[in-house]
This record gives sequence, C-alpha cells and structure tokens, in this order.
Amino acid sequence: MKCSICHEKVEETFLEKIKGSFVKKKPVCSNCQKKYTKEEILEKI
Ligand SMILES: [Zn+2]
Repeated sequence: MKCSICHEKVEETFLEKIKGSFVKKKPVCSNCQKKYTKEEILEKI
C-alpha cells in the first residue's frame, strides 16, 4: 500500500491496520499526516 500524497510505501501491520490512516478511503502515511494539515491533505489526495 502506498501513501496517496508522497507515494512512499505505507507499512501495514495487520488486516487493514496501517502506519498512517485512511482519508476518504485513501491511505496517508504518518509522515504526511504530521507534515500537512487536514485541509492540505484533503486538497492533495
Ligand atoms: Zn506520505
């Protein structure tokens, strides 16, 4: 699974648990979540 913003690989732990979260059903890595505000994330995905 890849981050919808930076396209880096998002690590998956188990069954749909990822190191990051889903925004509008798209994976966003934890780095991008720190880097961008929620509004910026919504614009970018
Ligand atoms: Zn990312």
